Amino acid sequence: MLVEKNVPLQPYNTFHIVAKALVLVRLGKLEDLQAVIAHPELGPAPKFVLGGGSNIVLTGDVKPLVLKVELMGRRLLEETPKAFIVEAGAGESWHGLVAWTLQNGYPGLENLALIPGTVGGSPVQNIGAYGVELQDRFESLDAVDLVTGESFTLNAAQCGFGYRDSVFKHAGTLGLAGRALITRVRLRLPKPWKPVLGYADLDKKMAQTRVASPTAQQIFDWVCEVRRAKLPDPQVTGNAGSFFKNPTVTAEQCADIIAREPRIVHYRLDDGSVKLAAGWLIDACGWKGKSVGQAGVYEKQALVLVNRGGAQGSAGGSGGATGGEVMLLAKAIQTSVYERFGIRLEPEPVVV
Ligand SMILES: Cc1cc2nc3c(=O)[nH]c(=O)nc-3n(C[C@H](O)[C@H](O)[C@H](O)COP(=O)(O)OP(=O)(O)OC[C@H]3O[C@@H](n4cnc5c(N)ncnc54)[C@H](O)[C@@H]3O)c2cc1C
Repeated sequence: MLVEKNVPLQPYNTFHIVAKALVLVRLGKLEDLQAVIAHPELGPAPKFVLGGGSNIVLTGDVKPLVLKVELMGRRLLEETPKAFIVEAGAGESWHGLVAWTLQNGYPGLENLALIPGTVGGSPVQNIGAYGVELQDRFESLDAVDLVTGESFTLNAAQCGFGYRDSVFKHAGTLGLAGRALITRVRLRLPKPWKPVLGYADLDKKMAQTRVASPTAQQIFDWVCEVRRAKLPDPQVTGNAGSFFKNPTVTAEQCADIIAREPRIVHYRLDDGSVKLAAGWLIDACGWKGKSVGQAGVYEKQALVLVNRGGAQGSAGGSGGATGGEVMLLAKAIQTSVYERFGIRLEPEPVVV
């Protein structure tokens, strides 16, 4: 086990915020984790689990021990008449896993293509895109208790998945944030494969290409194209994807808002509630393109906050936005959306 001190974290977070890990240990194998837990000083220390750093805002140097998850491996665990069960190490790239499953003839993850981050990070906020959430393809995961070192397995119900939520996002007695490290994830990819369509962007692609029955590979390619056109590439412009969750309101609240704002973008959910497009609310408050220091609101999509100064490669250089600037901007946006619509926006990334 190699214990590293004062490790720059700018290359390890997609916002490219400059910060250091005071102490960092890379976990390339499970024994590294057991060695940390058994260590007289590191064992009892508070810990922060770092995956691909694509859903965090660093507001300063990280004082808890940073455990950087680099547990690799992916395989077809089982094939049944009804599904392929695929297993991957928590340190694998999520997008790499999606591409690998398609190349090997196990479709089902194509709508979740190009989401940055690791396999181990994917259950934490139950990643979702284009009509599919992780929980729709989830079988189980293995994790290690960071206090006792014991391994345990959780099924979907035990993970408590919700919209961009799971037990791993919550601290306290009911949550596992900071208490457990996910080591392996298993996914169930149903047979026969059925495409998940019905999203405006995918419908547009079907109309443009005149393909009425796309293959999983075509959906994968379309999702990648649409995402590249809509979202800033973190390699070029630091960001953490959508910064706020889309808020859900009751049908009555929605009717009240529509009476005032007839153009508001909204989607009715099966339970009668209504999901509002947070990007639309932010745009309506005039935030698109605005900045606080070097933290800004992306010109093409108001839901995405960007680092106007920090791209990968400028390690230790110009600095770019600080986590404090990102959070000041986020708070100002929350305040103006609340004042105008009475709705509290909840941030999606984890503030560290
Ligand atoms: C350009 C862009 C687009 C994005 N698009 C989407 C999208 O479409 N849908 C979506 O849902 N998300 C999206 N995201 C957010 C992000 O990619 C996902 O949330 C991703 O799953 C985070 O994984 P990570 O490995 O980077 O986690 P990190 O950012 O490293 O960590 C996030 C949280 O998970 C915890 N964590 C990470 N790994 C583990 C582990 N092995 N065990 C326990 N806890 C762990 C961390 O402690 C932290 O609390 C996007 C981000 C970017 C930058």
